[in-house]
This record gives sequence, C-alpha cells and structure tokens, in this order.
Amino acid sequence: MSHLTGKCLCGAVTYKAAAPPQSARYCWCRTCRYLAAGNATVNVVFASDGFQIDGTTSDHVSVADSGNTMHRRFCTACGTHMFSEAEARPHLIIVRAGTLDDQSLVDPGSNIWLSEAPDWARPDDRLVAFDAQPPVPPTTA
Ligand SMILES: [Zn+2]
Ligand SMILES: [Zn+2]
Repeated sequence: MSHLTGKCLCGAVTYKAAAPPQSARYCWCRTCRYLAAGNATVNVVFASDGFQIDGTTSDHVSVADSGNTMHRRFCTACGTHMFSEAEARPHLIIVRAGTLDDQSLVDPGSNIWLSEAPDWARPDDRLVAFDAQPPVPPTTA
C-alpha cells in the first residue's frame, strides 16, 4: 500500500493512507473555487483512521454552506491546499487530488454543489450530480 501517499508542492508535508480511497468528486462550492483558482476542487475521500500526516500545516476554520464547521489545511511553507475535514464527519478526511503521488487513484464519480457553479463552468454531465452537499458516505468502505 506504499502507493497511497502524497505530498505538497514543496515536499514539506507528506501523508500516507492506510486504505484506498472511498470515493472522489468535484466540488463547485464558492469556497472551493477560491482554493482551485476558479474551477472545482477535485477531492478524494479517505478514512481518517490510520491516515498519517507528516509536516507542518496551517488550518483555516470556517462554516461551510452545508452548515458544517470545516478545517482546511495547507502547507505552511508553500501554501498547497491538502486536506479538508468536517467536524461532523471525523471518520473521513478529504484530500485534494493534486497532492496524490499516484494520480490513477483519482476517479471522480460526482459533481457536488453544482448550484454554486458559475455560468461558464463545464461540469461533466455523465457524472452523478448534486445541487448541494450529498448524503454522508458510509462509515467504512
Ligand atoms: Zn509545501
Ligand atoms: Zn467545496
């Protein structure tokens, strides 16, 4: 399982997951479009159990449109956004897909928060569509 690893742009923050991702999705919410330079973020969902992070991250705490208190962590040195965690869902850690070493692990199955996508967005309409936050994924994969 050594391929379940990732890092920030500068390499100061690295991580390792204990199990393959549960799902992946695009998020079009307003916050994510700040983080992803305008487009949707691509997010991979891992179990937080056994997920190891090395290095120093900063934590931006905010209340999301879903009402969840969110912790969004990024590398203090290079600013790469890496993780998102909802206090209401401590069993999950959301990883920004671009940080994964093995990009073949990324297979988005849905678009979420499509109601907040800008008019010029071109979401893939072959994927499952949610106007807002989808139902909570199962506790175990
Ligand atoms: Zn970094
Ligand atoms: Zn979002």
